Amino acid sequence: MKQLQEIINQSKNIVFFGGAGVSTESGIPDFRSVDGLYHQKYDEPPETILSHTYYVRKPEAFFRFYKDKILFFDKKPNAAHLKLAELEAAGKLKAVVTQNIDGLHQAAGSKNVFELHGSILRNYCEKCGKFHSARFMYEAAGIPTCECGGRVKPDVVLYEEGLDAGIMQGAIRAIAGADTLIIGGTSLVVYPAAGLIDYFNGKNLVLINKEVTARDTHADLVIQGKIGEILSQIEVG
Ligand code: NAD
Repeated sequence: MKQLQEIINQSKNIVFFGGAGVSTESGIPDFRSVDGLYHQKYDEPPETILSHTYYVRKPEAFFRFYKDKILFFDKKPNAAHLKLAELEAAGKLKAVVTQNIDGLHQAAGSKNVFELHGSILRNYCEKCGKFHSARFMYEAAGIPTCECGGRVKPDVVLYEEGLDAGIMQGAIRAIAGADTLIIGGTSLVVYPAAGLIDYFNGKNLVLINKEVTARDTHADLVIQGKIGEILSQIEVG
């Protein structure tokens, strides 16, 4: 913890790269922890249900799963989200790059957020383009349908879909320019997102995760534990 505090004190351009583990302390399950989605029983694995093919072929089943397990719109930011926003407000942290789709970084006050996989808070009619809220999606019975009759699609990147080129470029630029990269709450197995950390060329690579990750040996500092509990102990100078 002392080393983390010193690194943060010395850094002028911190970038945070995170995943589902950042939001578990807000009550949103991740995918790969023991109590995560992959260890719960469904007829098909989550990667299959959350794929573009499945969305097109079996929309009723897709939206049943989506509403039950993905669409959390009543959750609050936790200590990790809040500390990252505080670091940004203090001018120390320049960007958050997240694989999460829950919007909790912005809810905590973060401004420069690159959402690699989109957001459950944005939903568009596939026919007329009209915007619909997360509450609309939650309250819709069956397949969410616009007044015009079109199907409403969440602006989240499904398996088989490509990532937004502009967001990728912005994230790469932020990571490549950082003096410190803090990676937290991600298993680092989902590509191409996880590959972005290879653009880091700065001084301090910090990894905070509950479990061991494949990148632990590359890091200057590894802290194993809950990211909210860990970041809440940081003092912003
Ligand atoms: P993952 O489920 O593969 O890995 C989560 C990692 O976080 C695990 O290694 C786990 O040990 C760790 N973790 C869990 N709670 C933690 C905590 N409190 N503190 C520190 N570490 C903790 O998640 P991923 O790597 O982000 O990849 C999964 C994909 O699923 C992503 O693409 C993401 O878009 C999506 N997803 C998003 C959300 C969300 O928006 N909140 C939730 C689930 C999945």
